[in-house]
Amino acid sequence: MAPDTAIDPADLLASVFGFHSFRPGQEEIVRAVIAGRDTLAIMPTGGGKSLCFQLPALCLDGMTVVISPLIALMRDQVRALREAGVEAGALTSGNTEEETEDVFQAIDDGRLKLLYIAPERLASSATQSLLKRAHTRLIAVDEAHCVSQWGHDFRPDYLRIGELKRVLGVPLAAFTATADEETRAEIVTRLFGGTQPATFLRGFDRPNIHLAFAPKDQPRRQILDFAAARRGQSGIVYCASRARTETLAAALREAGHPACHYHGGMDPDDRREVEARFQREDGLIVVATVAFGMGIDKPDIRWVAHADLPKSIEGYYQEIGRAGRDGAPAETLTLYGPDDIRFRRSQIDEGLAPPDRKAADHARLNALLGLAEATSCRRQRLLAYFGESSDPCGNCDLCDHPPDLFDGTEAVRKALSAALRTGESFGAGHLIEILLGNENDRIRARGHDRLPTFGVGRELSRPQWQAVFRQMLGHDLIRPDGERHGALVMTERARPILRGEEAITLRRDLIQRAKAKPVARA
Ligand code: ADP
Ligand code: ZN
Repeated sequence: MAPDTAIDPADLLASVFGFHSFRPGQEEIVRAVIAGRDTLAIMPTGGGKSLCFQLPALCLDGMTVVISPLIALMRDQVRALREAGVEAGALTSGNTEEETEDVFQAIDDGRLKLLYIAPERLASSATQSLLKRAHTRLIAVDEAHCVSQWGHDFRPDYLRIGELKRVLGVPLAAFTATADEETRAEIVTRLFGGTQPATFLRGFDRPNIHLAFAPKDQPRRQILDFAAARRGQSGIVYCASRARTETLAAALREAGHPACHYHGGMDPDDRREVEARFQREDGLIVVATVAFGMGIDKPDIRWVAHADLPKSIEGYYQEIGRAGRDGAPAETLTLYGPDDIRFRRSQIDEGLAPPDRKAADHARLNALLGLAEATSCRRQRLLAYFGESSDPCGNCDLCDHPPDLFDGTEAVRKALSAALRTGESFGAGHLIEILLGNENDRIRARGHDRLPTFGVGRELSRPQWQAVFRQMLGHDLIRPDGERHGALVMTERARPILRGEEAITLRRDLIQRAKAKPVARA
């Protein structure tokens, strides 16, 4: 069914709700609801269910009625929507007379987009005629498991919702966080009259996808090795730039793989050709920017590699999520290095977004860096970001090989003090020479050989210090200065460590690895 609206939900996501990307699962649900399908969505708590009916309500004409069992929650949502400039109201027992009057007025004016009502209201026949008069286009049911007599939250008034749907003849979207199979069957019977709705069952976990990160040392070699171990399997390599997709695809072809590049700067016909080949052929590798993937629905993508760090944890999740939709094992590898971090930070800093949005983007990047520098199960950490708690997964690189950890507090304090004593004006290279006590012209010219920090870090090698600095960037203890190229400045987060109030754990494996293979600078 074609959506009856020209409004793109992705635009409203940013302009009304201030979000820059959908959470896992949201977009599919939103599009199904807008297309007028009956939907049942089972999403984890905190997964962002309310957006899945609020956003369609704004895209559809007429009004959406939201049935929710919790008055406090309804009032919160109405307040938040109003603050975002959306015409929303509630009819609950907690209303003042004036509030109720305002809601009726907004309905009569045809202004109201979302009307929240308590299930008890459905008992009154006046409510039905009110909803008819208001051009109700959609019924959204929050906490849909309340319709189940077997569940612990049974609300008898929920049994009236099925009748309301029949009378109004509109689609219904039901949401719940908890629905075992019996409860689901009951929801289908009681809310949808037994006709199976489009069903979205989404925890965030994709247990068949193996997660792995690696410090970027020789990206081309690392990607070629990863692909060589998976010869004949369909895969995607994501890159941060168009030029890189072309050189990397050429390198893969040279190594004997069928590979194409794909990016937004290509002719639309060429892009469609790559999409069609990928869909059709077994074992093709597409080296692409993030422009590739939105429309791709290939179930048997066996691997996804990131030659460059994605821009946020949401982006990462979405991109690796294209692998293994068939449920069979799939593998991922994400490379990251100091240059990636610098690139992503400057992308944010140099963008035109307002300051609070930039702060949020830095936080989203930090969440990804935290995942890259994680010291225990990556999936646990990833799911925790989306509000889902879990046990160690046994299917990530850190579960496979638990890293050797050490107390890095002393090393970090030395590095921070080197940065502070030189006015936070230098990059890692110069600071490391100071820590190692290496004299060179630049150091002598600035008198840095006379600093108390000079030579205090001789217990580590240069590559080991590089690994310490990279982990410090990953933990957001230092950041590249947006204005002064190459300069590293200390963040607020580092202060308690510098003052000796907090300790920090670092990974030794990365340091040893760095020692074995010097870090090549891209
Ligand atoms: P629940 O599924 O538990 O009802 P909510 O709808 O209350 O979850 O959303 C949980 C939180 O996630 C809210 O703080 C909401 O603002 C936030 N959220 C929802 N969608 C997004 C998104 N696309 N991007 C960022 N935050 C989101
Ligand atoms: Zn794990």
